[in-house]
Order: sequence, then structure tokens, then C-alpha cells
Amino acid sequence: MTRASLRRGWCPGALRPMPTGDGLLARIRLHGGKLSPFLARQLAISARRFGNGLIDLTSRANVQIRGLSEASHAELLAYLRDSEVLDEDPSAEAIRNILASPLAGTADFGALTDITSIFEALDQRLAADMHLRGLPPKFTFLFDDGGWPSLAEVSADLRFDACHSSCGSVFRIALGGTRADARPIGCCKSNKVVEFAIKIAHAFLATDDEAPHNTRLRQCATLLDASLATAGDKTLHSRDLDKNLPHPPIGLFPGTTGRSLLGLGFAFGRMTAEDLLCLADAAEDLGCATLHATPWRVLLMPFDKPTPLPRWLEQFAAQGFIIDPNDPRLALAACPGAPACKNATTPTQPDALRLTHYAKQLSKQGIGLHVSGCAKGCAYAQAAAVTLVAAQGRYGIVVDGKAQDQIPEPHLSIEAVATRLQTLLAARNS
Ligand code: SF4
Repeated sequence: MTRASLRRGWCPGALRPMPTGDGLLARIRLHGGKLSPFLARQLAISARRFGNGLIDLTSRANVQIRGLSEASHAELLAYLRDSEVLDEDPSAEAIRNILASPLAGTADFGALTDITSIFEALDQRLAADMHLRGLPPKFTFLFDDGGWPSLAEVSADLRFDACHSSCGSVFRIALGGTRADARPIGCCKSNKVVEFAIKIAHAFLATDDEAPHNTRLRQCATLLDASLATAGDKTLHSRDLDKNLPHPPIGLFPGTTGRSLLGLGFAFGRMTAEDLLCLADAAEDLGCATLHATPWRVLLMPFDKPTPLPRWLEQFAAQGFIIDPNDPRLALAACPGAPACKNATTPTQPDALRLTHYAKQLSKQGIGLHVSGCAKGCAYAQAAAVTLVAAQGRYGIVVDGKAQDQIPEPHLSIEAVATRLQTLLAARNS
């Protein structure tokens, strides 16, 4: 085992689950975020039979099954043995961190090119190249096909964004960040993307593995600058198809080829086994062959049989799914809290839902209220209009700041927090 792999942290997987406050957590890495109704049903049954029935959608377009025991985890693996989501071994699983445009392969929403074969080929190369097992487990590859919804604001270590250029569609290659702040290092045609991805991953591994991650990315860029400079035309034009569409992509959207798309959200990305079974049934009834997980914890359902839609929309609303882009729960962020997280002392998500009413008023766009189980702030790394930081069932309040910021006053009960939010809003509106 290399020095780096000894030092690195690790992320949970299906083969190597993580202990949490409510048992073992298994992260199922979907291929390209794709979830067939059959696989959705398998995962729902797994959550109900082997876990505690709770399922998380993650910000990397994966699915987590919670509440497993050692014994039931072994049963889960046996049950999923023939599914395509299990890797050969935990080290192969740990580095299979590939984000792709959620609707890759569907022609309806403006993709410049089909990237499906690209990320599938990278999947295989990552599994086959033993040297790449030395990559840090959170090292993420991202492929944006230029269509909607865009991954422009999603951060990754190595990103390939499809763009227009003077020689047609090409991929802009960049290191470390969102499309706006990642460092561009060249561009290439689609038939070279996988080759460059592997080359750059090897270059990253040649950097100083004792250095901080961002330093390694900078070193990698320096190593590569000369070799990629001639890879193509750097006058590129990204598209911004999101301007007139809601973000996150929730609601009903007409496609260009006669199909429609439904975007469904879940408070904090949390659903139950019954919710996922309901989605599998709906997908089959509506003529949807694949559900698409997204980094916004939204499931996209392209469908071509609209007749049963009204009945399913009623059902989704009854199950508490978010189907309206103006739903105030979209202005809330909350980490799993107690009992799901070992560090937590406070049930953050139920408490956050009690304050839903204030979240949208605190910020017309994005997150207005962040409820964090501790100062780590896992659910939302940025500043929010109001951040609540829990300790022993009470909350410290940070206005226009982050969970790590200084808490100016003593912690309050959730009822006192509600009163304080009313006062804050009244002062803002006066
Ligand atoms: S913010 Fe704290 S309590 Fe919440 S999930 Fe992270 S570590 Fe756990």
C-alpha cells in the first residue's frame, strides 16, 4: 500500500460502508447517475429489508442506504450481486467518482454531444488501471455535455465542459472548481477525452502526495501546461441554457422530441423505501426507462406517456415530494443531524422543517436557512442568510454567515429561534 493511500481519508461505498449514528451507511455509486425502474425497486427493497428504510440522494448523484448492520450489509451485497452498481473491490469503487450531465444520452435538452460513451469508457479505464487506485477517494471527474441542466456550478477536480469552438464542439479541460473558477489547461475533441482524463489523473498522482489537495492540483496544472497547450483551439464558448429555467430543475418541462421531463425534489434529499418504490411504479407507468439522479438531489424523469401524469402528481404531492420550483423547502439546508450522525446531538431535519415558513422569506433565491448539527456545517459550506448551529437540542444563530463562524449569543430553543426569526424578518421589512 502506498504512503498516500495510508494517509488518505476514505468515502463510504457499497462494499465498504461507513459507521454512522443510525448504523452502517452504504453509498451506491450509480453509473452516470442512471437508475432504471428495476434498479430503483431493488434499492428500495434493499433499504426496507436490510436498512432502516431511509435513502439519501447525494450531491454527487449517488444513492445511500442507511441503517445497515454488519449482517444485513452482507445480505445487501448478496442481493445486489448481479446489479451493475457493485464494483470488483473497495479500492476500485472508491475512485469511481464520475459526474456527468444528468440527461446525457437524451437528445431533448440541448446537449452539444452525447457523452455516454465517454463516461462509460472512463468507468472501465478506472477499473482496469491499478495505478489509478492511488487517487484520493474524493477525486472527481466531471463531464458536461453543454445541455440543460448544466453542471457549470458544480465543482470537480477534473472537468471537461463541451463548448462551441471555431472547429466545432470540443471539450474545455480544467482543473479544480466550477466552470467559472477551475483552471483551464487545454481543450480536446470528444475522441480524446478519456485519454486526456487518464493522462491528467496520472499527472496528479505524480505530484507531491504530502501536499494539500489544491496544491497538488496546481502542481498538476504546471506539469500539464506544456503537453496540453497544443491540444486545440482555446477560444471557446460555453452555453448557458439555465437562464430561463428553474434551478434546481424541479417541475414539468417540455422536451424537443415530444417527450417531457419531470424534476422531483425531496426535502434534504431524503426519501423512504416506499417513496422510491412509488417512483419506480410511476416511471414504468409513464414510459420512463431511466430516472436520472443529479447533484442537486433532484431525480429527473423523462417520460413519453403523459396520460397518467395527473394521477401521479397527486400521489407525489401526497408523499411529500417537492414538485413546485417555488416550494419553500428548497430554501432550507440541514445535515442529517441526530440520530443519523454520530457527532450530532439534535434532530436538525425535523427542526428545520418546523422553520420552513421562514426560509424562503430569508432569501428569495438559494438557501435562506441552514440548520447544522454542529460547527462542521456539512450540509452547506457557504454563508446563508441565517445559519443555526445545534448543541444539545438548542441552537446558536449566525446571521449572514457560516456554521463555523462565532456564535454571538447563547443557544436558544427551537421555539425561541422561531421568535428570533420573526423579529429579524420584521426588522428587515420595516
Ligand atoms: S454538520 Fe456535524 S452533525 Fe451535521 S452531519 Fe456534519 S458532522 Fe454531523
